[in-house]
Amino acid sequence: MPQAAPVLPSRYLTQAIRGITLSEMRPVLICPRCNSVVREPSVWSSAYHCGQHGEVHPLRSGLSPSQEGLEGVLRQARVPVWVPWPLPQGWLVTGFAAAGDERTGTRGCSVALSGPNPVGGPAEMMLISEEPGVGLGARFAGLCGPDPGTHFAKGPPAGVVQFGNHEFPLWNIDTEGRAAFAGEVSGTWLWLVLWPDTAGLLLVEPLPLRDLRDPGQDLDLPFGALSPLLPG
Ligand SMILES: [Zn+2]
Repeated sequence: MPQAAPVLPSRYLTQAIRGITLSEMRPVLICPRCNSVVREPSVWSSAYHCGQHGEVHPLRSGLSPSQEGLEGVLRQARVPVWVPWPLPQGWLVTGFAAAGDERTGTRGCSVALSGPNPVGGPAEMMLISEEPGVGLGARFAGLCGPDPGTHFAKGPPAGVVQFGNHEFPLWNIDTEGRAAFAGEVSGTWLWLVLWPDTAGLLLVEPLPLRDLRDPGQDLDLPFGALSPLLPG
């Protein structure tokens, strides 16, 4: 939860707002695994700390579904920034989140999308890429995390994603209230989470992906309203 600002009498509010400079409007950084506000680095530790999860890569969340938000997630990204491309019919990009700080770079990120469920009604999608241990994917998949767990990938894969003329298998994640899949691409976790669970039908066909970090792409991403699933 963001820290509550002190309550000011309304007559002082305009005066107070005038006094705020952009440099003071720093985003609240939260744990990628829970919503706790993280403790900033100190003289004793260069890492951000969550009271429950220890050292974490802080989440800069709710990056707007816009070119500016995209540039925000691409800046210092050390992991792929996945987007299905071509997009499934009628789907829009609805925001980004990035875990990591200036020192580490972005070590985990998510791209949110909204569109029609193949069986009718609306659906939401979250594509997460991260280094092992970040915990952003497990958070959206509804796991205690941070990774898919010991029983992961024991059976046949549930679907595949395509990237750069290769296919990468995704396995089903045992969870509730959503369809969740995970696999590994070049040493990073790739998670695909869909709400409601029936939207998992989107993975019946191989899903082609692009890494938005790759140069020379001129994708005209259609943006929708900010996803309510992005924390912050
Ligand atoms: Zn936490």
